[in-house]
Amino acid sequence: MTLSLPVIARDAEGIAPPRRDPAANAGRLIDSHGRTVRDLRLSITDRCNFRCVYCMDPDVRFMDRATLLSVDELVRVARVCVSLGVEKIRLTGGEPSLHPDLDAVIERIAALPVKDVAMTTNGSLLDERRARRWKRLGLSRVTLSLDSLRDDRFAKLTRSNTPPRRVIEAARAASIAGLGPVRINAVIVRGFNDDEVEDLAGIARTLGVDVRLIEFMPLDSAHAWDRSRVVSADEIIERVGRRYPLRSAGRDGPGGTSLNFAFADGAPGRLGIIASVTRPFCGACNRLRVTADGQIRPCLFSTVEYDLRAALRRGDDDEAIARFLLDSTWVKPAGHAIDSTGFEQPARPMSAIGG
Ligand code: SAM
Ligand code: SF4
Repeated sequence: MTLSLPVIARDAEGIAPPRRDPAANAGRLIDSHGRTVRDLRLSITDRCNFRCVYCMDPDVRFMDRATLLSVDELVRVARVCVSLGVEKIRLTGGEPSLHPDLDAVIERIAALPVKDVAMTTNGSLLDERRARRWKRLGLSRVTLSLDSLRDDRFAKLTRSNTPPRRVIEAARAASIAGLGPVRINAVIVRGFNDDEVEDLAGIARTLGVDVRLIEFMPLDSAHAWDRSRVVSADEIIERVGRRYPLRSAGRDGPGGTSLNFAFADGAPGRLGIIASVTRPFCGACNRLRVTADGQIRPCLFSTVEYDLRAALRRGDDDEAIARFLLDSTWVKPAGHAIDSTGFEQPARPMSAIGG
């Protein structure tokens, strides 16, 4: 896989969603396909100390700081979303632990009447001290990324000098601090780490955590994604099942994205497969994404974004911001079309969108 297109371009500039009758969705984030949004993915930065091959080019250009939402703006977006029925908020990025005011972001968002405030992090900066502090500030749980257990390969995949054992230590620290159930995500890319599928699943057993193996999605900044690089859920389940017999454990309730499995021998931990490419779960999608620069993406694969930042900065009141969110939700597409010939990869990569 060559990585040669460093530019992060905006898909659209300053677009507002089509207006609807204010009474139409009764103050709830409902889309035109009958799905209700309860899960907000809030990207708090596009900066990162890793450059994972499936996500970010080595010479990625970060967004101008002035365009990133301030802590007050992030909290306001979260607050209005909660008033519209959002129950779960996931802080993501980029690497959220690099945010200079992360403590304030966690504390203020966790103070909202929301069931769950989680964070996805590469774990490089997560030690026991931070884990305890985040827990105290109100963070419910963390998801960590770990794509290889081999030092040399992890260095190549993340283009960092953080060893994989650092992420395992982070997972232990998070569990001890009560930031659980801890999840570990691994993106499986054929030709990079597909020979570690069984070993990565095995850490669910040794650490007693949930491991989620993710199909590689066309969201890399290099636009080098290719169907032949995707290792399908079927192949993953078959291979892991041969080493560790599995028992189906269904999905995590409505909006659950993961096909879950327990280990048939009763070992601790669980395996989940996120099969966005081969078994899309769009019909149950209950998510809305807000990028670090305040753009609403109705779908991970949207090529249209709605400029919430403009609405926030021109002084719209909460009612107008709520309207903007309701209208943006209404036009959530039915699903992505990765497998169709007309599929267009979004210009912005996962790091800019917030995974
Ligand atoms: N930096 C944090 C991390 O890596 O955990 C949070 C942001 S990262 C963009 C969120 C998640 O997106 C990670 O679990 C990462 O593995 C996943 N991701 C990034 N690019 C992806 C791709 N092209 N396909 C599938 N998952 C991807
Ligand atoms: Fe950074 Fe996460 Fe993207 Fe890796 S996946 S480059 S850690 S944002």
